[in-house]
Amino acid sequence: MPTEQLINELQSFGVRLVDPRASAVGRRGGAGPSDHTPFTIDGATVMVPVHNAPAFELSLMVDKPDALGNSRISRDGVELGKVSFPLRPRFYDLTTADGIPYSKLATLHGRDVLATTVLQSCIRYQSRTKTCQFCAIGQSLAAGRTIERKTPAQLAEVAKAAVELDGVKHMVMTTGTPPGSDRGAAILVESTLAVKAAVDLPVQVQCEPPDDDIWFQRMKEAGVDSLGMHLEAVTPQVRRRIMPGKAQVSVERYFSAFAAAVPVFGRGQVSTYILAGLGDSSADILAICERLVGIGVYPFVVPFVPIAGTPLESHPTPPPAFMHGILQPLATMLRSAGLNSRDIKAGCGKCGACSALSTYERRTNA
Ligand code: SF4
Repeated sequence: MPTEQLINELQSFGVRLVDPRASAVGRRGGAGPSDHTPFTIDGATVMVPVHNAPAFELSLMVDKPDALGNSRISRDGVELGKVSFPLRPRFYDLTTADGIPYSKLATLHGRDVLATTVLQSCIRYQSRTKTCQFCAIGQSLAAGRTIERKTPAQLAEVAKAAVELDGVKHMVMTTGTPPGSDRGAAILVESTLAVKAAVDLPVQVQCEPPDDDIWFQRMKEAGVDSLGMHLEAVTPQVRRRIMPGKAQVSVERYFSAFAAAVPVFGRGQVSTYILAGLGDSSADILAICERLVGIGVYPFVVPFVPIAGTPLESHPTPPPAFMHGILQPLATMLRSAGLNSRDIKAGCGKCGACSALSTYERRTNA
């Protein structure tokens, strides 16, 4: 089976770990990939669901890894490939001078990405009628796995350690949306300034479009390398149903923000995260991708994976064939436009672990 299709299958169905302790860096809840564990298969590091309910009903199995983290994946006893698990990052064992474990401030994503949610609360998370139905930003906070506000100094300290001890190559700073018209841009600017003063590390920041496009320039001047503004769903009806609060920011506002941000950060350095499987058709998703690619925005399309405890915890993941029907033409579209995940300086599109898209790109460009 081609690697990209195996990745689609893994991300749609998840795996069962023979030894659940195999994952040193898997985790539950939070923003970004949750109830996932990273492993590397055929050179591609992917986030694969393991902890949530669907993972226990399937036939893809990963054996107990050896001391170096090497294992194999099989179905019905037939080996499909070799996999390896990342070792526990060394920076996880450190604490700040005021006693906060570094692992509560930032986590390792994929193979070499340091990821943090600078503000672990959100104006959109306060009520069930406004919250994004897929989001678990409050869960890891409630469970004590993180703290609500990471200060610039704390982030700088962790980033420096993660580079020096674990060879982290880029950093993602996302945020819940605070009250106020900047939509989190201000705390991302101050956080980036602190990280960049401490260590040479490419940074992607992620937020909703701020009300004033001047923030893109301020981000750039602070040292931000790449920007993510995430549509999540693409049609107004699906956006209203899945993310009633965030849908108040229209798709057209996202496009005007993209148009303002691309000249600041460069073609391919502005991206958006699109969750496939929430109700948008593949034609809807590909149509919006065509618009995005046309203005130099990298559309990072990932399969939706339900997170336990969220309103969508029982929503199915998209079938592998649905992902294949999007990612294959999208890889061709990206190639024609001269956009490539490899050229992104930092962030989710560069990491690629939440989707098979970069594996499709590699095959398309081979
Ligand atoms: S693609 Fe983004 S959210 Fe997914 S593991 Fe990589 S950095 Fe984290």
